[in-house]
Amino acid sequence: MMIDTHSHLYLEEFDADRVEVVERAKEAGIKHLVLPNVDKETISALFATKQQFPDYCSLAMGLHPTSVGKGFKEDLLCIEKTFSEENFIAIGEIGLDLYWDKTFLKEQIAVFEQQLQWAVDLHLPVIIHNREATNEIFASLRKFSGKVNGVFHCFSGDEYEAKKMLDFGFKLGINGIVTFKKSALPQVLKKLKLSDLLLETDMPYLAPVPHRGKRNESAFMQQTALKLSEIFETNVSEIKRVTTENAITLFRLSIF
Ligand SMILES: [Zn+2]
Repeated sequence: MMIDTHSHLYLEEFDADRVEVVERAKEAGIKHLVLPNVDKETISALFATKQQFPDYCSLAMGLHPTSVGKGFKEDLLCIEKTFSEENFIAIGEIGLDLYWDKTFLKEQIAVFEQQLQWAVDLHLPVIIHNREATNEIFASLRKFSGKVNGVFHCFSGDEYEAKKMLDFGFKLGINGIVTFKKSALPQVLKKLKLSDLLLETDMPYLAPVPHRGKRNESAFMQQTALKLSEIFETNVSEIKRVTTENAITLFRLSIF
């Protein structure tokens, strides 16, 4: 069995066939999903999906860096209000994204650090989105050193970055990128331990080969697990066992 530690099942891409997507995930041995929020617009869909599959999904709440703009203070209030309405297993997804737009870098950092503080206050791990902002994220994490842990979701960095993230007490979320033909990630992962890694999809994005370019779904995570079994030269059941244990420990899942 596996846990998809990063799924956006609640987005409209799945409105037409959400039940079938979950059925296929269950058939593929996916035991549980972690659903990280994006912004205030996605909260109601997130909650509705949790209601539809209460035992199959756990929620993370946060404001995504690409949604940070002029109205960020009000957006943070909206997010904070939900803490009394639902149970969350993590703060996420949060982080910095300097790939799409650098206009609001200052605001992105303020929002990221506010949410890191929430993680400290609520004793929750964080799910970090990092796009071309590794050093800036490290600078923020240094201010919370020893107080937060979590996962760098969608990890695709080099060995040096990986080691630093692990030193901060984080796991690395591995998705379909590792199956891409030109990915340097397999060589990086060879230098790491399986106990450092979580499996994820980031569905609907980043479908693994041979589904690359199509809508991603949890059932495809099998391809990512198979690729890891090649990289670590072990059988796929060992990959599933260790990464599932890692997810249960990090998110303190009490579902099994
Ligand atoms: Zn995501």
